[in-house]
Amino acid sequence: MTQVHIVGSGPNGLACAAVLARAGLGVTVYEASSTIGGGTRSMDLSGKGLIHDMCSAVHPMAVGSPVFNELGLENHGLEWRYPEIDLAHPLDGGRAGVMVQDIGRTAANLGEDGNVWMGLFAGPARDFPALGRDINQPIIHFPSHPLKLARFGIPSLLPATTLARGFKSEVTQALFGGVAAHSFNRLSQAMSSAVGMALISAGHSNGWPVAKGGSQTIADALAAVITGSGGRIETGRLIRSVDELPSGEPVVFDLSPSGVVGLAGHRMPEGVRKAYQRYKYGPAAFKVDLAVEGGIPWTSEEARRAGTVHVIGSFEELVHAESEINFGRMPDRPFILVGQQYLADPSRSNGDVHPIWAYAHVPNGYSLDVTELILQQIERFAPGFRERIVSGTTMTPTEFPFYNANYVGGDIVAGANTPRQLIARPRLALDPYKVGDGMWICSSATPPGGGVHGMGGANAARSLLKAIERA
Ligand SMILES: Cc1cc2nc3c(=O)[nH]c(=O)nc-3n(C[C@H](O)[C@H](O)[C@H](O)COP(=O)(O)OP(=O)(O)OC[C@H]3O[C@@H](n4cnc5c(N)ncnc54)[C@H](O)[C@@H]3O)c2cc1C
Repeated sequence: MTQVHIVGSGPNGLACAAVLARAGLGVTVYEASSTIGGGTRSMDLSGKGLIHDMCSAVHPMAVGSPVFNELGLENHGLEWRYPEIDLAHPLDGGRAGVMVQDIGRTAANLGEDGNVWMGLFAGPARDFPALGRDINQPIIHFPSHPLKLARFGIPSLLPATTLARGFKSEVTQALFGGVAAHSFNRLSQAMSSAVGMALISAGHSNGWPVAKGGSQTIADALAAVITGSGGRIETGRLIRSVDELPSGEPVVFDLSPSGVVGLAGHRMPEGVRKAYQRYKYGPAAFKVDLAVEGGIPWTSEEARRAGTVHVIGSFEELVHAESEINFGRMPDRPFILVGQQYLADPSRSNGDVHPIWAYAHVPNGYSLDVTELILQQIERFAPGFRERIVSGTTMTPTEFPFYNANYVGGDIVAGANTPRQLIARPRLALDPYKVGDGMWICSSATPPGGGVHGMGGANAARSLLKAIERA
């Protein structure tokens, strides 16, 4: 039986291992940390009996992931919970842009922009399950559904600032822009609409759910599939060099390109090594996890019911903040993403004390403490918020790589979403998962990119299985 070694137990490494184990291969997953999951870990950070998601929190991509569905994770303890409102984007004066799974209700709330919202997202949202195969693989491929893909892909090519001009109201512009900004891009850059198109279409198709009991349950369900198919997982096992692993057996890296070079540079084809060394990392996250008594007292009534709240104010403020971080400057008013997962999953709270998940977009490697700026931004839309904070912890861009080596300089999506890297990630190749010499890469530095969906892992597993078939 072929034995495969997988370095890293993020959702891509685990999905890769699960697909290979189910195909009858022997797999061993090595995880540096004492617990599995990478960006899908959860823990009681405050010691107050609350469940905090350490990294990923909201799962529009995971719930519709072809590989997670194929693996039947719901049979291994994964349960999705849906907030009443997926996303609120408050503006000064108590107004807010609101997105719910039902596109008709979302559009109706957007007034004069409702028709434009329907025109942009109704088709891609309806087609989202069919598009799963096309958008979850390298962009350069023969599409299975060319017309559906074009309806999704053509707006994705545009800068978010161009697409936003199609909306008349500042509420809609801010609502769309906040989702596009999940890419950490300058919003005037070509293709900066792509992530917004994907997350909004996924949201209207599948919602923006959270995992009951924390994102950790996604990793735990994947681990159950692996061990149930005879695979092994070793935690607390930092791999420093590929030479530590048995020679002549395939290796898959759930690592950033620089991580792969660090472990296996001496065995990589020179062209691949150089491409990985040229690979660019993007801006960073500064994370704050809080225990908050009574939750956040948002002025906007919708924000009080939303699983995710985007905190920045107007679209212009957002464009400015995202531009600054991409030029290495810290804005006074950064973009903050706030998660209130407990609204959909009350099991995460302890009485009236609730876990609040938040992170700010900051420049890569930024070393100063921005907790105060984050609190100020939230307080701007939720006066009285600070008095409710019971305790808090932070994770800075310089601490992130110690927590997980894939987060280079605090870049939580393992690579800048520049047009080049959206098209050719981590390098231009017909099979971007192949590293060479019996080695593969499956992390979010491969298509389809950042987020919890396991599709980099599934695609790398298929590339490896094809190579075995051909041998
Ligand atoms: C603050 C934050 C918020 C996020 N929010 C969301 C969200 O709401 N929704 C969403 O879909 N995504 C979100 N993400 C992104 C998501 O978590 C990542 O895109 C995803 O986890 C990437 O998965 P991966 O398998 O590629 O790698 P990772 O999850 O990064 O896992 C890599 C694993 O490899 C291990 N490792 C590294 N080097 C070695 C080594 N040498 N030896 C052994 N093990 C090693 C690491 O410890 C880690 O466990 C967020 C991330 C962060 C940090």
